[in-house]
Amino acid sequence: MAKLLIKNGLVISPTGVIANDVLIDGEKIAAVGAPGWFESSEQGCDKVIDAKGKYVIPGGVDVHTHMELPFGGTFASDTFETGSRAAAWGGVTTIVDMAVQRYGENVFDGLAEWHRKATGECAIDYAFHQIIGGVDDQSLKDMKYLTEHEGISSFKLFMAYPGVFYSDDGQILKAMQTAAECGAMIMMHAENGPAIDVLVQQALARGETDPRYHSYTRPSPLEAEATHRAIVLSHVAGNVPLYIVHMSAGDALNEVAAARHNGRNVFAETCPQYLWMTLEETLGQPGFEGSKWVCSTPVRSRDHDPHYIGQMGHGHQGDLWKGLRMNELAVVSTDHCPFCFKDQKELGLGDFSKIPNGIGGVEHRMELIYQGVVAGELTLERWVETCCTTPARMFGMYPQKGIIAPGSDADVVVWDPNTKTKIGINDKHHMNMDHSAWEGWVIDGKVDTVFSRGTVLIDNDQYVGRKGHGKYIKRGLSQYLV
Ligand SMILES: [Zn+2]
Ligand SMILES: [Zn+2]
Repeated sequence: MAKLLIKNGLVISPTGVIANDVLIDGEKIAAVGAPGWFESSEQGCDKVIDAKGKYVIPGGVDVHTHMELPFGGTFASDTFETGSRAAAWGGVTTIVDMAVQRYGENVFDGLAEWHRKATGECAIDYAFHQIIGGVDDQSLKDMKYLTEHEGISSFKLFMAYPGVFYSDDGQILKAMQTAAECGAMIMMHAENGPAIDVLVQQALARGETDPRYHSYTRPSPLEAEATHRAIVLSHVAGNVPLYIVHMSAGDALNEVAAARHNGRNVFAETCPQYLWMTLEETLGQPGFEGSKWVCSTPVRSRDHDPHYIGQMGHGHQGDLWKGLRMNELAVVSTDHCPFCFKDQKELGLGDFSKIPNGIGGVEHRMELIYQGVVAGELTLERWVETCCTTPARMFGMYPQKGIIAPGSDADVVVWDPNTKTKIGINDKHHMNMDHSAWEGWVIDGKVDTVFSRGTVLIDNDQYVGRKGHGKYIKRGLSQYLV
């Protein structure tokens, strides 16, 4: 087993930034000690990395990805092989992907399909949530089984997409009651789907077919209303833990903040696209160009949203950054769901409702949220907390993942804050897509070296990992509950 030493770096955790050396033995972190502490054992190390002037952070944990997701007649363009490799390039060492059960399908078949897609393919460790697209007696039983035996302790439900993934309020309540019995987490896609579908049909009937209408037909009050309804149902079901995914709207955030103020087990995540992108600059671009940024929930208007004016005069984005600081938003994930422009996004030419929903981002989350540190929105500690530590704790993988501590997996990223990263199809881009949603963005800082369980994946701007290195992680229950 290899012994590695990372010395002279600044180790970042949710509780501080401390000059420390990190000793790795095999797949685990053996010890963390004051600079110079391991000098005597340096000779016996197989590799010594001098991280002077650099940050040493836990490997990123992205708890919301969709590799090879079937959607709208096509599949998300990253396989577990290409997507997990791109994740490694971005300093991510664990993903939790969404296994799918659609209405009318068997949960175990859906899960088996996801294991088949991922087994032997991943560059980094991976786990699954289970989408329950059809709540019935059998799938409720299966939720319990998965929690107790398969290491899947979180279930995503949808208040949108009628006919595909949608659950009505009664089904949601039943699933929540089941989750309350076995300690599982309910993850919610909170948008009022039936109302959105009416607005979509009305827009199309008026000839409003461009990509920007994707956002106009999903106004933020319909995200806030669904968020509120999910919170009420989770309360009635016995304060069952509820995690709202991909939050994009300030008014939805206010619902979560109020619930948390009232002591509810309610959590939420947002994604880099909602923190940085606006409708005006992306989805609203002329012609079909905007289709690159069609995702749900949608990117929202910066200043001109008729539905929402933020709490301190901010729009949605200012409020989302505030929510991250205040722990109203606990996690940043990506909702990585890439589709190529050619032949995939193009399915929606002339009809925005047929554009596959999703943005590729698994590679850039650590970079984009670090940029929030540079911009003065977050501390270094909060960057690591929202991108590494809390996601691991929220979904039962801590302290194996998400922290640099003795006994934890040696998932470590050396981060160089003294240089820049240019994102773009001809610059830094490793996802299996023909475009980048982040084309031309220049980020301060750079992923320098990436370790997954003590194995080097990224070194000197080279990928030196291999598919099949990544292992399936059986997760426990959320560690945020008393
Ligand atoms: Zn969703
Ligand atoms: Zn998603």
